[in-house]
Amino acid sequence: MKQAESTMDCDIGRCKALCCHNCAVLTKGEVSELVTHVNKEYSLELEPKKFFREVRGEGGVYYAIKMIKGRCIFLNKENRCRIYLCRPTLCKLYPVIDIDKVDERCPKSKILPVEMLIGLKRRYDEEIDEDIKAEQTFLFV
Ligand code: SF4
Ligand code: SF4
Repeated sequence: MKQAESTMDCDIGRCKALCCHNCAVLTKGEVSELVTHVNKEYSLELEPKKFFREVRGEGGVYYAIKMIKGRCIFLNKENRCRIYLCRPTLCKLYPVIDIDKVDERCPKSKILPVEMLIGLKRRYDEEIDEDIKAEQTFLFV
């Protein structure tokens, strides 16, 4: 799953923000927090239906950030996140994409210190919603 970020210290010219070519999946509560946070930080009113779509897992209904032509709707032309300060936790934790999994396609995955990756994996375990962690696949509704 995605996630990711066009972080300021990434070589975007090299990776083309690969991490933002997957959709982050959030709970309804997380969508609501993100919308409030974006309004506070960027004075932007996000209409949830415009930016998120419903997805179903085995255990419930979630919300995926919409994609346009294979890119996150929040990614700008310069491959930067337009809501960087409010990006989902899944984006913040990338290249960690599961409790014990790293997306090796990300150039940063090869250069981040081991201790940092361990810390990100720990955060994945602690901060990602339990239901989302338990899902294997999501179906777009
Ligand atoms: S929300 Fe931002 S960091 Fe996350 S995938 Fe979209 S553009 Fe990338
Ligand atoms: S996290 Fe990885 S894939 Fe995403 S912008 Fe940085 S280097 Fe590129």
